[in-house]
Amino acid sequence: MRRPSGSKKAERFTESVIREMTRLSHEHGGVNLSQGFPDFPAPDAIKAAAYEAIQDDINQYAVTWGAAPLREAVAREFTRRYGVPVDADEQVTVCCGSTEAMITTLLASVDPGDEVIVFEPFYENYGPDAILSDAVPRYVTLREPDWTFDPDELAAAFNDKTRAVIINSPNNPTGKVFTPDELETIARLCQHWDVLAVTDEIYEHIIYDGVRHVPMVAIDGMADRTVTINSLSKTFSVTGWRVGWTIAPAALTGAIRKVHDFLTVGAAAPLQAAGAAALGSPESYYRDLAAGYERRRNLLLEILERHQFVCYRPSGAYYVMTDLAAFDVTDDVEFARTLVREVGVAAVPGSSFYRNADLGRTKLRFCFCKQDATLQEADRRLAKFGVQATS
Ligand code: GLN
Repeated sequence: MRRPSGSKKAERFTESVIREMTRLSHEHGGVNLSQGFPDFPAPDAIKAAAYEAIQDDINQYAVTWGAAPLREAVAREFTRRYGVPVDADEQVTVCCGSTEAMITTLLASVDPGDEVIVFEPFYENYGPDAILSDAVPRYVTLREPDWTFDPDELAAAFNDKTRAVIINSPNNPTGKVFTPDELETIARLCQHWDVLAVTDEIYEHIIYDGVRHVPMVAIDGMADRTVTINSLSKTFSVTGWRVGWTIAPAALTGAIRKVHDFLTVGAAAPLQAAGAAALGSPESYYRDLAAGYERRRNLLLEILERHQFVCYRPSGAYYVMTDLAAFDVTDDVEFARTLVREVGVAAVPGSSFYRNADLGRTKLRFCFCKQDATLQEADRRLAKFGVQATS
C-alpha cells in the first residue's frame, strides 16, 4: 500500500479534541462538560412526531435536497422571524447536520487556493473544513474579554483571493454574540471584496440577557452573498439526529445540492418529518429554551468562579470559556487530561480552538447543556481540586 496512513490532506489535521475528551470522560467515569450535547430528554412533541413518521412509513429516501415540509417550515419560520424572504425550492437544502452543511457549502463554493477567513477561537471543525475544501484559511483573532476583533486586522485579511468568511454567532466556544455593528463591518468588507459570508447560526435561539440574534443575511446588501447554516440539534436537543440545513442564494443552491447529494444523498427521512413539525413550535417553546439555558449558565458560572476559574460570561450558546490564571497552567491539554483523570470532570482544552495554540494554552471550555444534577456533581468533584489553586 502506497499510503497506508492516509492522504496528505488527512495528515494535516488531528482527531477532534472535543470528541476525544468525550471518550476520555467515558473511560474515566467523568462528568462530561466537554462535548456540547444535552444530557436531558428532547421535547416529547418532536419525539412523538418522529415515532409517527416511522409508523407512517416515511422510511425511504427523501428528496436529496430535503423533504418539502421541512424546507417549507425552515423558509416560513426564517421569514416570519426576520422578515427576510426565503424560497424553500430555490434556497433551502437539508443536510446531515450543520457539520455537513458547512463542509458542503465550502466544497460547493471554494476553489483550490481560494482564501477563507476564520475568526479564532473557532469551532474546531472549521480548520479541517478549510483543508478538506482546499482553501487557505486566514485567521482573525477575537480577543477577550469581549471577544471583539480589530477592524483593521479584519480588513487586512481580505484580498482578491478571499472567497468566503465563516461567522459563528452566537459563538462556540466564546459565547460571543456579534453586534449589528460588527456584522455591518464584516458585510461592508464582503461587498467590497465580493466575498461570501457563511454563517453558522446553530445557537440562534440560545441567547441571554435580552440580547437579540441578528442574522447576517438580514444586513443590507447581504441577501445574495450569505449562506445561513442551522440545524435541529441545539434548538430541539437532538444532536444525534443529524438534521441541518443551508439557506443560500438561489445561484449557489444548485452547487450546494450537488455536493450534498454525492456526499450523503440525504438526511434521515422520518427525522426530517419530525423537524418540520417541531419548527411549528409556539414562541413559548423558544423562550423557555433560552430561559432554561440562562439559568444553567448562571449556575455553571457560579460553580466555576467559586473554584477559581476566570470566566468569560457568555451572551449566547452553551459554553463558558475560562482562563486558568489561578492554577499556574502552561499546558491546557495536560491540564484537561489531569482534570478528567484525577478529578473526573471533562472540559475542552482552549488550544483546540486556536490555530496559534499558544493563545489557548491557559484556557478551558466547559459546557452547561446539562441537568442541574450533572453540574452539581461537577461542583462536588471540583471542590477536591480547588485546593490545588495557587491563588
Ligand atoms: N458543537 C458541540 C461542541 O462544540 C459538539 C460538536 C460535535 O462533536 N459535533 O462541543
